[in-house]
Amino acid sequence: MSIKKRCQEIVASMLSKTRLLYLPPLFSRKPSLRIINYHWTPMEERSSLEQHFETITQHYCSLDQNGLRAFLQGKHRDPRNPIIISFDDGFRNNLEVASPLLEEYGLTGWFFVIGKAGYSDGHIVEGNLNTRYCMSWDELNLLRSKGHVIGCHTMNHVDLGSIDHSVLHHELVASRQLIESEIGQSVLSFAYPYGTVNSFSKASMEMINATYEFAFHSFSSAIRPGHHPQALGRICVESGWSKDILQLRLNGFLDFRYRTPRNRFFRMLNETIQ
Ligand SMILES: [Zn+2]
Repeated sequence: MSIKKRCQEIVASMLSKTRLLYLPPLFSRKPSLRIINYHWTPMEERSSLEQHFETITQHYCSLDQNGLRAFLQGKHRDPRNPIIISFDDGFRNNLEVASPLLEEYGLTGWFFVIGKAGYSDGHIVEGNLNTRYCMSWDELNLLRSKGHVIGCHTMNHVDLGSIDHSVLHHELVASRQLIESEIGQSVLSFAYPYGTVNSFSKASMEMINATYEFAFHSFSSAIRPGHHPQALGRICVESGWSKDILQLRLNGFLDFRYRTPRNRFFRMLNETIQ
């Protein structure tokens, strides 16, 4: 375990013992939405993932797309704070490990998948995502049939800040059309691949805004009613974390680290979309 992770464990465990970790934030205006994002959810991390979902069920209310729309419009009525549980890249162990747990705890998952030919059919991802098994279209349809949300994560898992603008349509619009034709359902949500300060551009923001209702980036923050639906910040989490670390991050610990890219994203979005 890294020193950074160990420090987080110590802080989380101290706060957990005093019960401070699970107290609602005293000075924040309610309601406040948090969005978490998993990637790989292996079977050996099933029990820690179950503890995450157990904690989430006790303290939060999970949203689907209608719930998100209502929340942003100030119409969230549940007394618990809302949460969105998302998964990027379409890994098969999301279906095998995470999905049954989500259903057991009555939670909605948001699965952001890549349209690349061969990706969803070939079952194996190589290169920058290492060699990992991914869901086939049939498997993705199984997830959809269980009521989970399917979103788009580009066609080829490209960094939108560095690709040629001539291929943006393929990555952002053709990918949506392909996923919709495979699952027989509208795709309203998009998640930016990678989470760096340069993983977006004005041209990509413009096209995403014209194509999708909701867009998610990776610069975590609390989201309140009235927040821009094209700038939804997620917390990157891991299924192997303790539930105390998860709660620490849900409380906003380390949000400050994402301030610079988050502000840059907002500035660029405001300059792009009037
Ligand atoms: Zn990704």
